[in-house]
Amino acid sequence: MTALADIKFPWYQNALDLDRVTRDYPPPPDFFRGVFRASRDELRALQERRFLATMKRGWEIPFFQRLWGAAGMQPGDVKGLDDLPKIPSYTVEHIRRSIDANPPFGDFMGVAPGGPDPMPLVLQTSGGTTGLPRPMLYAPTDREVMAILGARRYAMQGMLPGDIVLVAFSLGLTNGGLGNREILWKYMGAVPVMTGGGATTPTRRQIEICEAWGINVVLAFPSYLRHMALVARDEMGIDVRDLKVRMLGSHIGLEDRKTIEELWGAPLYDSYGTHENGTIATECKQQNGMHINDDAFVIEIVDPDTGKVQPDGERGTTYITTLFRHSAPQIRFNINDVSSYMTGGDCPCGCSFRRLTKIYGRNDNMVKVRGVNVFTEAIGVAVAEDSRSNGEFFCVIERFGESGREELTVMVEVLDLAAHGAAVKQDLERRLKEVIGLRTVVSPVGVRQLDPHTGLSQTSKIKRLLDKRKAS
Ligand SMILES: [Zn+2]
Repeated sequence: MTALADIKFPWYQNALDLDRVTRDYPPPPDFFRGVFRASRDELRALQERRFLATMKRGWEIPFFQRLWGAAGMQPGDVKGLDDLPKIPSYTVEHIRRSIDANPPFGDFMGVAPGGPDPMPLVLQTSGGTTGLPRPMLYAPTDREVMAILGARRYAMQGMLPGDIVLVAFSLGLTNGGLGNREILWKYMGAVPVMTGGGATTPTRRQIEICEAWGINVVLAFPSYLRHMALVARDEMGIDVRDLKVRMLGSHIGLEDRKTIEELWGAPLYDSYGTHENGTIATECKQQNGMHINDDAFVIEIVDPDTGKVQPDGERGTTYITTLFRHSAPQIRFNINDVSSYMTGGDCPCGCSFRRLTKIYGRNDNMVKVRGVNVFTEAIGVAVAEDSRSNGEFFCVIERFGESGREELTVMVEVLDLAAHGAAVKQDLERRLKEVIGLRTVVSPVGVRQLDPHTGLSQTSKIKRLLDKRKAS
């Protein structure tokens, strides 16, 4: 039997070279003096180097050996980023199959717990709503670089050392809450206050904490920011503008930025991330497109029908190639989010990183109703524009009659249902016809009536759609 004193306990501080990590992926303030202003040529050269290292790492991992081998690829075939479009892409379905065939973590990670030379690993997951969520293991350098990229995001948006930050993203298996804790205390000198979502800390208590502890930054999903402001106003008699919160950090997508900024009296910043990688792209103070961390990712926007890379300005599916990952590197991972590159030159902030316009939704959140492509996110924008509603909505798609006619019903919470229900129905049906090009049935309901459908007060992963066609 091995004596306890002879077991190898891996110490985090010995598992990575922190000086090197912060040199290679500088956090603020070094970031602003360095790669933030690098020329496009310098960035491309950096990407080329890191991409070839990532390909080498990929060939060590069974998942890629299988995927690439099946496409007839040999090590050394890919000579640089110009060859990227020749590499087969893959989706979350490939990842699920890898996990099924090689439980519990799949064969795409390239790292595993235990063994003779154990590595300190963190496990977080996707925000799966049905069945087990997908696990992701992070090696020490991965986790540090992710924290650094997150710190760049908040610094670009105006967060400062000493800020007291309410983190109202879910705690637990998903990465949003705990990932932010690492960002804030390791690389921002800001103080994370880990309230989590409404299921962890009731919303009223969150407001009380904002008031008592001088919270000056709030991080949460747009729907929860709206919910907080309305609970404060309607149940506590508090105008959240009086809390003097200086900035709001979120993932906005197609939600309405303006109504939330007006409720809080503070700017709301967008960003784009995945549970696998943390912050991929972020808005700066200009609020005009999201700068991709070009030294850590190569992002392709691909036509989902042809598989060809789209010209700038055209929408397509987002393919991610990571340049920093040791565990679970991603090389042409089709993440299924719809976005486009911005056109029209450099950002006034001085950052040379290229920008994505925004995330228009997920290809798989897109539903076809009577032949029309509909993003539920776009419906949310129209609902949020109507101040008689609190912005909460839930969509149901059903088939009716022998003809199987498809009907989209949008249930909407109306603040004063008796006074405004009928008018909201009429106005919103007209507005939705304009916005999504489809006739819908709007069904006004009272405040909180949709909670059981959306899960708003319980989780930050809000449900917006029930497609009953699939059940039948
Ligand atoms: Zn900028």
